[in-house]
Amino acid sequence: MIEENKEPTPLTAIGEFGLIETLTKNIELRNKSSVLGIGDDAAIIAASKLQRVVSTDMLIEGVHFDLLYTPLKHLGYKAVVVNLSDIYAMNAIPKQITVSIAVSNRMSIEALEEIYSGIYLACEIYNVDLVGGDTTSSLSGLVISVTAIGEAEEKKIVRRSGAKENDLICVTGDLGAAYMGLQILEREKAVFKDHNSIQPDFSGKDYILERQLKPEARKEIIEFLAEQKIMPTSMIDVSDGLSSELIHLAKSSGVGIQIYEEKLPIDVCTVTTADELQIDATIAALNGGEDYELLFTIPLEFHNQVKHKLGITIIGHVTDKSAGYHMVAKGSESMIPLTAQGWNHGA
Ligand code: ADP
Ligand code: MG
Repeated sequence: MIEENKEPTPLTAIGEFGLIETLTKNIELRNKSSVLGIGDDAAIIAASKLQRVVSTDMLIEGVHFDLLYTPLKHLGYKAVVVNLSDIYAMNAIPKQITVSIAVSNRMSIEALEEIYSGIYLACEIYNVDLVGGDTTSSLSGLVISVTAIGEAEEKKIVRRSGAKENDLICVTGDLGAAYMGLQILEREKAVFKDHNSIQPDFSGKDYILERQLKPEARKEIIEFLAEQKIMPTSMIDVSDGLSSELIHLAKSSGVGIQIYEEKLPIDVCTVTTADELQIDATIAALNGGEDYELLFTIPLEFHNQVKHKLGITIIGHVTDKSAGYHMVAKGSESMIPLTAQGWNHGA
């Protein structure tokens, strides 16, 4: 924790090597495949019969996060989790990460330690090892880039491209909450800018704020699918909004999509906040993004095995390519075309 009343220590006080040492001391490697971690020119990862899956995401201050309302520990945690989500979306298990940071000299050592405490917490919870990274200076804001490395048996890996006509379309958890959380943070930031003395009002918004600031990756779903011996035909994680991810799956698989508005899983807190801000909750669910839920397709025969399990919702089915991408509107038979930005009002 950052101790109050104590002057933050500038980065210049310990230099780059001192900083890496401070941030990475006391690491214990958890996974057998992590042969050598931080401290040499490269990490060593043991080879095996499994396939390796690798994914990288970069988070940039001012583009992907705002330090005004993002707690540093949460930022570190989220930077790791969003990468692990991509590994799970391949039906693989993440084992190692590397973390690269570019920092301006207005950051203190204590602030970076706070970010790393979130990184280590995510490593502990998801059982992954931090095995390397890079540290450099930035003339503007903070940049954090995480690479995650996972493994899976070749035949268990699930791509975006295998969805077949009549497959069920499933999504985990609920949608649109992280987006509504962001709207509340932005609203309170605007109030704060105009009236420094007004305290932010976050009452009743815990759930959507947590979804925005401290998302989780759906590890337990991958474990559940393995236990149940269910192989999704295609899978993707929902980072850019359900609608755009559905279209990714459909295009990769060469199929059409039909979902039902009334089936979309949306939390009550998302709905009440959407009402308050005069946003359509369905639009938040379709376009919001940063849900980090898993979207996958399964053959019909698995219907009973997934229905109502671990918060999995069946939202529709795969159609022939010629049928396109549609959502059946609530309380009517009208078919709304889905677009990468969500849905098309006029059409
Ligand atoms: P090099 O000059 O060979 O790139 P560095 O001094 O950058 O070496 O890194 C030394 C060791 O510290 C390496 O094992 C590297 O992976 C690790 N490392 C550097 N920066 C970070 C960081 N921000 N987080 C985690 N590990 C890091
Ligand atoms: Mg380096």
